[in-house]
Amino acid sequence: MKTLPFWWEEAEPAHGERQFDSRKFAVVIVGSGYAGLSAAITLAEAGMADVAVVDAMRIGEGASSRNGGQIGSGAKFSLEQAARRFGMQRAREILDDYDQAMPFMLKRAATLADDFDLNLSGSVSGAHSFKDLKAFHAYRDGLAPEKRKTVEVLDAQAMQKVLKTDIYRGALVKHDTGSIHPAKYVRALANRARALGVRIFTGFRYLGTSRGAGRFEIRVQDVQTGGEVKLSAEKLLMAANGYVGPEAPWLRHRTIPVQSYMIATEPLPFDQLEELMPLNRVAGDTKHILYYFRRSPDGRRILFGGRARFQTSTAEQSAVGLRRFMLHTFPSLEKAKLTHSWFGNVCFAYDFCSHVGRMADGIAYVSCCNGGGISMMTYLGHRAAEMMLGVPGHDRGIVNSHFPRIYFYNGHPWFLPAVGSYYRFLDRSARLFDRAG
Ligand SMILES: Cc1cc2nc3c(=O)[nH]c(=O)nc-3n(C[C@H](O)[C@H](O)[C@H](O)COP(=O)(O)OP(=O)(O)OC[C@H]3O[C@@H](n4cnc5c(N)ncnc54)[C@H](O)[C@@H]3O)c2cc1C
Repeated sequence: MKTLPFWWEEAEPAHGERQFDSRKFAVVIVGSGYAGLSAAITLAEAGMADVAVVDAMRIGEGASSRNGGQIGSGAKFSLEQAARRFGMQRAREILDDYDQAMPFMLKRAATLADDFDLNLSGSVSGAHSFKDLKAFHAYRDGLAPEKRKTVEVLDAQAMQKVLKTDIYRGALVKHDTGSIHPAKYVRALANRARALGVRIFTGFRYLGTSRGAGRFEIRVQDVQTGGEVKLSAEKLLMAANGYVGPEAPWLRHRTIPVQSYMIATEPLPFDQLEELMPLNRVAGDTKHILYYFRRSPDGRRILFGGRARFQTSTAEQSAVGLRRFMLHTFPSLEKAKLTHSWFGNVCFAYDFCSHVGRMADGIAYVSCCNGGGISMMTYLGHRAAEMMLGVPGHDRGIVNSHFPRIYFYNGHPWFLPAVGSYYRFLDRSARLFDRAG
């Protein structure tokens, strides 16, 4: 079993430029994932020259080339919950941002020259309890008539035609979502950015910045040699999500990095997998410690993900738990061998909302995918770029929304094992007292 992402077999992250021939830029963006690259594309499309993206790893080597590739969008809170935090007007705009994310991503995707296995055959979300199934019905009933047509709620028996497992009480099927090859997508974004004149430098870690003469004086370190390089830029954007380090304490006090894990099986008979997950729809569920799974783009493997352990684990350790979860879902995969196991960092905010704005020193940020950010971070990179360009009307929704600090927290999530135990308790008790009707 390889401890590398399955996706890298076809699209291993590549290095960008390794030498700075110029040190003066209009904009420097830290982070070459979906958020950073999408911001760079919007800036360059608006005619801005001298945009540089800097990453400590290779292009997209963070979460953007390691994820499950399930696309879709949606907030992890209701309008009422958001209104209590942000006020009704902002709350409505924030939910509108979540609705805009997927259409925006598809629009941006249409401008990319490279293929990335986009498949819009839909998604299935398994209801862990009858209460969750009821919530699915309420969700569907609350949708506008046009949107309602794209969504179905199925009981456990009817669900078998879209997902063959006994572990759920039913499911919500969304027909307008689907999947991509995440590493090919980030590569395609990078190629689009470069075609627009964006420079991408990799193997350089951002260390910090100071302000002088209206510009940011930025220190980066060559990860290989340890040598420092000084850059200068009019604007600076942090797009580091779950990889943000001590160099950005303001962000670290507001963001919780969490490891998310995945495994891939060996190639299996196509017909067997077509029976388990017809049409290559993607799947997830409503548990606090959720499973998310799909087939590979060629339909021959199962890729299974989840938070196997709420503590730092190796890919070998997490593979054991994930395999158990996979067999719980699909017992017929008993004999399937694993070929890959890997993990990456996602990033949560205390309020489970994504955030875009500026810190007190003027550095812009886009942060907190809260577990799922292929479409959201693509969209929010664009919104961050609009903010930096001063596009009229940019100050709405997620842009400049209050970003709460987490007290007694310095960036090391010491509380995660306790949160994991609590979530496991909630998931178990949800089934213990679960009654239909
Ligand atoms: C295993 C896994 C499964 C997932 N599954 C899904 C899914 O199915 N669907 C979905 O929508 N989302 C999923 N996600 C989440 C999704 O991958 C992320 O939301 C998204 O990739 C975030 O993009 P980003 O650009 O914000 O951050 P990233 O892609 O993580 O990029 C951040 C970059 O910042 C760089 N960086 C950080 N600090 C510095 C520094 N000081 N100097 C230089 N560079 C720095 C890092 O090297 C990194 O490359 C998953 C994530 C994981 C890990």
